[in-house]
Order: sequence, then structure tokens, then C-alpha cells
Amino acid sequence: MTPRAEQSTLRTRTCIGCGAQQHKQGLLRIVRTPDGPVFDPTGKANGRGAYVCNRACLEKARKAKRLQRALKSDVSNEDYERLVQCMDEFASCMDER
Ligand SMILES: [Zn+2]
Repeated sequence: MTPRAEQSTLRTRTCIGCGAQQHKQGLLRIVRTPDGPVFDPTGKANGRGAYVCNRACLEKARKAKRLQRALKSDVSNEDYERLVQCMDEFASCMDER
């Protein structure tokens, strides 16, 4: 078995806020889109993604600028506000466009 196949079998992802490894389903996914990062409630949207446990971990990632690094993209204050709002509603920001 290749290391890549093993990884997909385990399906754990690392939270960019606290660094904890968790099963993918227990984490909130943020995906990079041409319009900026958005919350991905399905976890299936195409694109580079990053994971956090919850909003508190998003705040930690924000302070440490880890989201920018994980997505290899700029993340503005507006983007963060939108992410927090969408996580509150557990709705995709993409559907509202
Ligand atoms: Zn976390």
C-alpha cells in the first residue's frame, strides 16, 4: 500500500487552529474559490481546503495567519467575517451568490 492510499483510508485531517488530528467528518472545511475562501458544509467542494474544529479554532488560525498559509491565498477581514457568519448558519456562502 502506498503512503497516499493509507492516508485516504484514515481520512484524518489536521485542524489549522489547534493542530489536532480528527476524522474529516468532525471538522469544518474551508475551501478556496476564485472569490475567496468560503465555508464548505458538504466537505466536497473542489479546490484547496483547510479544516478547523470550530469557530474558536478559526479565530486561532486567524491570529496566527494559518489560513492564508493553508490555502496559499490572501484572506481578508471580510473573508473571515463571512466564514464566521456561514459557520453560524451552517450554510454555504457559495449558494447565496
Ligand atoms: Zn481545532
